[in-house]
Amino acid sequence: MDNLQTLFEQDRAHFMHPSTHAHDHASGALPGRIITGASGVRIRDHQGREYLDAFAGLYCVNIGYGRTEVAEAIYEQARQLAYYHTYVGHSTEAIIELSSRIIDWAPQGMKKVYYGLSGSDANETQIKLVRYYNNVLGRPQKKKIISRQRGYHGSGIMTGSLTGLPSFHQHFDLPAPDIKHAACPHFYKAPAGLDEAAFVRYCAEDLEKLILAEGPDTVAAFIGEPVMGTGGIIVPPKGYWEAIQAVLAKYDILLIADEVVCAFGRLGDKMGSQRYGMRPDLITTAKGLTSAYAPLSAVIVGEKVWSVIEKASETQGAMGHGWTYSGHPICAAAALANLDILEKENITANAADVGSYLNRQLRQTFEGHPLVGEVRGDGMLAAIEFMADKAARTPFDPALKVGPKVSAECLSRGMIARAMPHGDILGFAPPLVLTKAEADEIVDIAKAAVDAVAQQVL
Ligand SMILES: *Cc1c(COP(=O)(O)O)cnc(C)c1O
Repeated sequence: MDNLQTLFEQDRAHFMHPSTHAHDHASGALPGRIITGASGVRIRDHQGREYLDAFAGLYCVNIGYGRTEVAEAIYEQARQLAYYHTYVGHSTEAIIELSSRIIDWAPQGMKKVYYGLSGSDANETQIKLVRYYNNVLGRPQKKKIISRQRGYHGSGIMTGSLTGLPSFHQHFDLPAPDIKHAACPHFYKAPAGLDEAAFVRYCAEDLEKLILAEGPDTVAAFIGEPVMGTGGIIVPPKGYWEAIQAVLAKYDILLIADEVVCAFGRLGDKMGSQRYGMRPDLITTAKGLTSAYAPLSAVIVGEKVWSVIEKASETQGAMGHGWTYSGHPICAAAALANLDILEKENITANAADVGSYLNRQLRQTFEGHPLVGEVRGDGMLAAIEFMADKAARTPFDPALKVGPKVSAECLSRGMIARAMPHGDILGFAPPLVLTKAEADEIVDIAKAAVDAVAQQVL
């Protein structure tokens, strides 16, 4: 790239990046990186440097980069029919086939699939479905939605409200009034003296207290990720989902499983719901559905909600909800090719196998490390959380930027691992095609990076 200088100047001048320090970017203090290509688990930048992408983009490139079968499926679909809308019963072959395939990946009791382009818009649809459901059932007061502290559900007005991270609320007048947050199921941070079973009871009681304080007849739904992603890769304690579902059943509250990260093999199972015994009424998927080869999200609607919606149409007519690109054929073709690869190559089984290997190696390497408080994960998701005082579980001063420093040390050694936004946490979510040798490479680089930062801050 000989016009590199100009490209960077134009980037700084006119491209508004998401989640980016505006001033540091404009001044050039944040160097920026132009990605030029990728294959398997590795990406390449403008300098021709290669990086092992241990975060699969934003935990979305499940099948790995550069699969030409997906590119060809996109090309074929674009040649044949790039677009037609899906309003008023219109379909294309690809979206019909995809809908059945998604139901096959989902847990029992799922009936219909509605499409958008992002996890955020899919959760926006969920909120609307929950409101519609209760309104047509004649319970207009039942519309609050309970999410969890540190949950991540998108960054729109309503979905950013569901997200339980303060940085997504500040200066946006959020959260919106009908969104409440229950306790985060992070056992490591549990109140002192509670064992795992007692902490599960604590979480269930916290939820029940919130429901009772708000009034059970005002609470419509609970939304949660099977394993929390952006909030810090938090695996729920044993029995958590069973206890939460018992509370929801008691007060007739719908369960929305936000499977945007967990679905399509990430945890070594079809979805997180099967892995954790969740029986959701509604499921949100996006990221892994196309492995990010094209933007697509899917809202999976269970029998219980669907039967109410279908019945309501007899008196209410068509529901006034739709996006121009709902069920876009090019994205559907990408998703079908992605699911073909996932299924034919047993990639979910590889995620289970190599994921547990990666988690085991990370635990062995880091559990005794002076900088490390907790190593956690499930399937092909893992995190290391750093603590200033391991015994007392005291975090570092955020100004020290321990998490971002470790991430930067990984980067300079040729690996991308993400500094998660809430605490000093290094996150791993590699493509599901990772090999054991590549898992070893991740652990070795992470070890060198953590040791380097330990020298600076301990
Ligand atoms: C990424 C994510 C979303 C939002 O998806 P976008 O495509 O970024 O809008 C929602 N829920 C979860 C669990 C996610 O990880």
